[in-house]
Amino acid sequence: MTAFDYDLVVLGAGSGGVRASRLAAKAGARVAVVESSRVGGTCVMRGCVPKKLLVMGSRFAEDIADAAGFGWDIGAVSFDWARLVAAKNAELNRLESVYLRMLRDSGVDLVEGRGGLAGPHAVAVAGRTLSAERVLIATGGRPWLPQVPGIEHAITSNEALDLMQLPARMVIVGGGYIAVEFAGIFAALGVKVTQILRGDTLLRGFDQDVRAALTTEMAGKGVEVRCETVVRSIERAGKAYSLRLSGDETIETDLVLYATGRRPNTEGLGLEEAGIGLDDHGAVKVDQWSRTALDSVYAIGDVTDRLNLTPVALAEANALVATLFEDRPTSVDYDNIPTAVFSNPPVGTVGLSEAAARRRCGDIHVYLSRFKPMRNTLAGRDERTLMKLVVDAASDRVVGLHVVGPDAPEMVQGFAVAMKCGATKAQFDATIGIHPTAAEELVTLRDRRPDPCPEDEQ
Ligand code: FAD
Ligand code: NDP
Repeated sequence: MTAFDYDLVVLGAGSGGVRASRLAAKAGARVAVVESSRVGGTCVMRGCVPKKLLVMGSRFAEDIADAAGFGWDIGAVSFDWARLVAAKNAELNRLESVYLRMLRDSGVDLVEGRGGLAGPHAVAVAGRTLSAERVLIATGGRPWLPQVPGIEHAITSNEALDLMQLPARMVIVGGGYIAVEFAGIFAALGVKVTQILRGDTLLRGFDQDVRAALTTEMAGKGVEVRCETVVRSIERAGKAYSLRLSGDETIETDLVLYATGRRPNTEGLGLEEAGIGLDDHGAVKVDQWSRTALDSVYAIGDVTDRLNLTPVALAEANALVATLFEDRPTSVDYDNIPTAVFSNPPVGTVGLSEAAARRRCGDIHVYLSRFKPMRNTLAGRDERTLMKLVVDAASDRVVGLHVVGPDAPEMVQGFAVAMKCGATKAQFDATIGIHPTAAEELVTLRDRRPDPCPEDEQ
């Protein structure tokens, strides 16, 4: 028995913090988790889960429209946004109680309040000091907005999930995950969405063909995507807002949503005072074992700004507990982490973009297909799916797999296993397809796309 109150005190009961607390307690550690808001964190309360429920709710609009091509006369339909938001909130309440029960059943003490580091082995919260052999920082992140005159009129994804009513027009600033996902939700529900981004196309960092395909398809679904545009100011104009853009153009809208990235929650935590290094964005610097500059303090998840995805925070928690409490030193392998963007249409991707593969592998082979999925024939929808494989020429290994189209996230999860195992293009070719599916295309791609001219390469 140590002299500390706890073996582990965790700051933040989000994806990473809850997982680490439960596993450490299961391994026999005495654990407390400190939470300043709702247990479940960003993913469950303000991110993945509510977002995906709204994505699902919004997609019925297309299903209903497409049904006519398959013989259905549905008649007049109506949509009740308030009912969807209420149902979503009821589900979040249910999940919160599940998380609370899981913590209780694991023997983890929940301490409510905003915590901070009060020394290498101490956490201050709600007027108390908890001593701990080890402290884990898992405080996640929050939306970040640039300094633009009138920015106080803008909302973030937090508020967008709980709008009282749908606006007629909406401007979404940003071209990343959140911006394209919310553009898809609101456009499908009939809002006139204008998306404004400073870059030349959506989703920087993704494969160039994916970016181009998504931009085309989103435009086809009524989202006005304005690239290389910067918002100079936002002003109230009666009940609406007036946005002055680069090029001195002005547009009017009813709601402005900024999705311009997130920043780690490290302000006021006492980390720098304790000698823990932060990067330029305030992220906690850690080594491959998630250890900070202080031997007793660790950090995982979005607060470390490595790869800000829930399954990554969970993997970092698993690895940390294995290392600290199960005598199995484990670090996370960040290669071939699959990711999905729940845009409309969605994107699923694993491995390298074509440009990154060219840089890393040199000689590569690219296989690409763009086709109309079966359902769209009778539905009369002109939307096309994109599938792309990037193969390292020397080893024949598939190093990049990209899909834009219905069910892309579900498809890519399974292929990610194959890529983690180092599957080659020959093994993809030897795999029998499932017919008729869209996914079978990924094992029947035979014709190499000609290499681009040097000037086309990015
Ligand atoms: P969080 O889940 O943010 O948890 C941190 C917790 O710490 C919070 O509960 C916070 O209240 C608490 N806290 C902060 N400061 C303190 C303090 N001082 N004291 C006590 N408690 C504190 N990822 C995916 O993989 N798939 C998705 O589809 C997806 N969709 C997303 C959609 C949106 C709109 C957003 C914003 C994010 C989305 N993400 C998604 C990212 C995902 O939510 C995060 O990567 C994940 O939640 C990170 O987990 P975490 O444990 O690091 O932090
Ligand atoms: P992203 O980093 O994905 O995108 C931020 C966007 O804002 C980019 O288009 C960026 O442009 C733009 N931007 C940044 N600064 C400015 C500025 N000063 N003025 C104008 N535009 C600016 O952040 P998100 O907020 O969309 O999401 C945060 C993270 O959350 C994601 O990166 C992801 O890790 C996670 N997430 C995951 C989801 C999933 O798994 N499906 C869904 C939602 C979030 P530029 O490209 O030019 O830098």
